[in-house]
Amino acid sequence: MNGLVIKNTGSWYLVRTDDGRDIECKVKGNFRLKEIRSTNPIAVGDRVVIVENNEGTALITEIEDRKNYIVRRSSNLSKQSHILAANIDLCFLVVTVDQPVTSTVFIDRFLASAEAYRVPVNLVFNKTDIYDEDDNEYMNALINLYEYIGYPCVKISALQKDGLDALQEKIKDKVTLFAGHSGVGKSTLINSLIPSVDLKTGAISGYHGKGMHTTTFSEMIELPGGGFIIDTPGIKGFGVVHMEKDEIFHFFPEIFRFSKDCRFNNCIHINEPGCAVRKAVEEHYISESRYKSYLSMMEEETEEKYRK
Ligand code: GDP
Ligand code: ZN
Repeated sequence: MNGLVIKNTGSWYLVRTDDGRDIECKVKGNFRLKEIRSTNPIAVGDRVVIVENNEGTALITEIEDRKNYIVRRSSNLSKQSHILAANIDLCFLVVTVDQPVTSTVFIDRFLASAEAYRVPVNLVFNKTDIYDEDDNEYMNALINLYEYIGYPCVKISALQKDGLDALQEKIKDKVTLFAGHSGVGKSTLINSLIPSVDLKTGAISGYHGKGMHTTTFSEMIELPGGGFIIDTPGIKGFGVVHMEKDEIFHFFPEIFRFSKDCRFNNCIHINEPGCAVRKAVEEHYISESRYKSYLSMMEEETEEKYRK
């Protein structure tokens, strides 16, 4: 039988079988890791093969190839990481231009990490109900910028349930992850999208009455109209994705496009002669704020190297 891992409690996995049953599973003892060294062999969002026993539980015997996954490094010292979720169809980065202000550096770092993970991102501008004229102007400038690069944007008010239809449409039948700084309104948004869930208390009504909602492990929350939202506690960004210095620009799509015209093919677009990226920044084909974010990531990588 095949199924989808919808909850990870540490020792057990809850698997939604393709014929619609929820079965508690353990992992076969000699299960081999397919990919990175991680503390958990299987994560929420994984497609697995299970073998059922006659006690109503099952063993996970195989895991299908992942189209993507996101990880958290266990600690700075260990090279081990924890897989937070796999097979994410879509990520919504919730941002606000007021209360709090989300910086473009934060947005750009997040987007670069998502490119590295091959997770498609949409930007969700929340709290539009409190924006004044300046806020609106700034938001629209950001929307122009990011849509031009290729990131779709949505304007909403989670509180006033404004603009949510467009979101509902996008998340239908998909596995969606919500990220963003704390305070931007992720919980409010998820509560508005799925009225049966109360994220604050963690109670999920009608959820098979099984187990407790734990805040330590990931789980998927089913959408009334089909699809799932991944509720990963504490996800703000994607954490540290390791990128080599000379590959960072690959994760800025518009910088990457211009880089093909640089004079040197090992150009990292800082002060090389004949750099097409710098020229594009000067001519405003690449936004200055994006280029600044790129430089800040390059600098940080240099510091990391220096510390080692
Ligand atoms: P989270 O940390 O991202 O989960 O943010 P919360 O959902 O807890 O929201 C943080 C605060 O922002 C709360 O006081 C919410 O009521 C408020 N908030 C969330 N969405 C909106 C919105 O669309 N408009 C306004 N004015 N406030 C909002
Ligand atoms: Zn260059």
